[in-house]
Amino acid sequence: MNHLINPMEISIIVPCYNESPNIDYLFERIFSVLNSLNLPYEIICVDDGSRDDTLIKLIDYHHRYREIKVIGLSRNFGKEIALTAGIDYAQGNAVIPIDADLQDPPELISELIAKWQEGYEVVYAKRRSRQGESFLKRFTADVFYRVISNMSNVSIPRDTGDFRLLDRRVVNALKQIPERNRFMKGLFAWVGFKQTAILYDRLPRYQGKTKWNYWKLWNFAIDGITSFSMVPLKVWSYLGVILSFLAFLYGIFLIVRTLILGIDVPGYASLMVTTLFLGGIQLISLGVIGEYLGRVYEEVKQRPLYLVRECYGITSQNEMSSS
Ligand code: UDP
Ligand code: MG
Repeated sequence: MNHLINPMEISIIVPCYNESPNIDYLFERIFSVLNSLNLPYEIICVDDGSRDDTLIKLIDYHHRYREIKVIGLSRNFGKEIALTAGIDYAQGNAVIPIDADLQDPPELISELIAKWQEGYEVVYAKRRSRQGESFLKRFTADVFYRVISNMSNVSIPRDTGDFRLLDRRVVNALKQIPERNRFMKGLFAWVGFKQTAILYDRLPRYQGKTKWNYWKLWNFAIDGITSFSMVPLKVWSYLGVILSFLAFLYGIFLIVRTLILGIDVPGYASLMVTTLFLGGIQLISLGVIGEYLGRVYEEVKQRPLYLVRECYGITSQNEMSSS
């Protein structure tokens, strides 16, 4: 850690999308934690194209407290990208993304920092409980973690969100990942480094409502799986080999039977069943190829990840964005 070269110690990153009712309480709690730590810090708020007065409130806070810095994106890009923008502009030796809705208790920041000072480079906060979440949400989350851990060789810690501490080394590693499809939890795990966990109770949202629904979660899960596993792409050739082998055996059986017993016309049902079954399998496999191909297309276009509309208090040190 280059403490001597870099005077900024802690960067808190808050992605905000329509979070106006949470902001006052959020800053109050973050400030009370950070002021007790006695380390130089900055709070980078990324306004992800909010449609309420979030941005105005943030700018107002920036004028009152110079530790609060604001990045306004040109439209809503989604949490993962808002977070990436914040990480790109952060200057601290330790970077801590935190949700604006106070589901991640800011008081934990001091515990994260304590572990960091022990020498860990990634300290992630792991949920002890999932309060305020339905049975269905917990069940689907469980299935997701099972599937992804079986399919990919990067082990993504269960029940963690983006709330964690990242050392400058890890941040620099993350910045080298140019992927457009950013499944942050996976990327955080992929980079490696010395990682450890602390446990916490995730609370229900303070105000407002979640921006997730099951359709978004489903797409998020597909993003995660496609960016960290090629199993869905490869499984079809194996399935094809097995099916062709079975079809071959069945073909021999049919020939032998016809030679012995003569021609036998009925067989409509079995014909239909095999045709439909194979048709279904072919469509699924095409769909999977489409998922990957679509993502390849996204990457090939090389569009910038995000566009910044306005910045307050930021001395841009790196230029990944438009400016
Ligand atoms: N968020 C964002 N852009 C979006 C959606 C969400 O920056 O398009 C932010 C949001 O303001 C919050 C965090 O991401 O700070 C988590 O969002 P949310 O509470 O909706 O997700 P959940 O906690 O339900 O997973
Ligand atoms: Mg939330």
